[in-house]
Amino acid sequence: MKILVLGSGAREHAILLALAAEGAGHELLAAPGNAGIARDAELVADLDPNDPVAVTEFAGSANIDLVIVGPEAPLIAGVADALRERGIPVFGPGKTAAQLEGSKAFAKRVMDEAGVPTGRAVRARNRAEVETALDELGAPHVVKADGLAAGKGVIVTDDREAALAHADTYLPSGPVLIEEFLAGPEVSLFFVSDGDTVRALSPAQDYKRAYDGDAGPNTGGMGAYSPLPWLADRFGSEAEFVAEVARTVAEPVIRHLDAEGTPFIGLLYAGLILTDSGIKVIEFNARFGDPETQVVLARLTSPLSELLMAAASGRLESEPDPTFSSDAAVTVVLASEGYPENPVTGRQLAGLDAAASVAGVHLAHAATAETVDGLVATGGRVLNVVARGTDFAEARDRAYRALAEITLPGSHHRTDIAARVAE
Ligand code: AMP
Repeated sequence: MKILVLGSGAREHAILLALAAEGAGHELLAAPGNAGIARDAELVADLDPNDPVAVTEFAGSANIDLVIVGPEAPLIAGVADALRERGIPVFGPGKTAAQLEGSKAFAKRVMDEAGVPTGRAVRARNRAEVETALDELGAPHVVKADGLAAGKGVIVTDDREAALAHADTYLPSGPVLIEEFLAGPEVSLFFVSDGDTVRALSPAQDYKRAYDGDAGPNTGGMGAYSPLPWLADRFGSEAEFVAEVARTVAEPVIRHLDAEGTPFIGLLYAGLILTDSGIKVIEFNARFGDPETQVVLARLTSPLSELLMAAASGRLESEPDPTFSSDAAVTVVLASEGYPENPVTGRQLAGLDAAASVAGVHLAHAATAETVDGLVATGGRVLNVVARGTDFAEARDRAYRALAEITLPGSHHRTDIAARVAE
């Protein structure tokens, strides 16, 4: 197959590596990609992934068999709608269904109507409504911007003043959501859908805070691991957990969107909290999660291209369930100095070949570019070290040995990814 992946992060690199690992001889292209992706795919560097007309024209003229949309921005811009109109198979929802991610208020409405378990939420349009909602729902306070905020629109705090200040930041551009605080472990579970049928991938957990011990500000994600061995203690087995989320969350949402005439064709990412009163949704995303994808796809043993093509062409029902190795997978994100507040970019990276030569390790680039000075970091999250092992102790050991080979002045990373499950 000739496959075009839109995006330029470690998630897109992980998707391309999984496609390459099939050994099926796919022709792989990425737009715009990055320096690491350039080693595994042909870059279409001058194609704007957010431009529906440009992407559709390119995919048509290049005879692309399947377009996979990595990030949310092209979905919200209507890129998948435009491709589908032209009859080009695309894995990614149209802009209305993508509102599951683009608008937290839309997601809440769909969940309410579909009977999906989630926390209480109040939509506040001004300072007075925010204050009333904060008092009604009590501490800890959860305040969210309604639109896309790249993981930065949420604050969870006991400090009422900080909650108010956060709301003040976003209120000028629209309503904010004040949510009930949900306590419990978080799980990310991905479902592939063709608008009708769903197929679950294996669960993962990510680390959102910048520093060890879940300290510091929220980030796009500093690391992840999969599978989640502790799910079996709570639910009997991972399979029973996955089946429950499919039945209570994914299937009702997919059915509801289909009934509204806006079928969701793509990846439904369920961000869940396992509370004492059951599994609850904290958010949906309309695309693969980053960095969870890096560990989930590292364990995938069935062909990714067939699964996504079956979803894009409406024949997921006759596609077998995806399969996963029992290996433990861990990914650790290397971040630039100052990330997430003010990342310093342009600094040189070294030691990548030595890192990638550690057994069971591969690298997924997030923000790198090849320059006259060599490889440099071009963003906050720079690259992911992904390691597999027979257990988490081995996977962690490999990941951190590989990280020790990499130099990027001023960089930081968490040292406690998957530490608890490795004990
Ligand atoms: P979101 O962008 O909605 O995924 O939120 C980012 C992070 O904030 C989540 O991964 C949670 O750790 C936390 N969070 C969001 N909503 C809640 C909630 N209602 N209760 C507790 N924690 C939350």
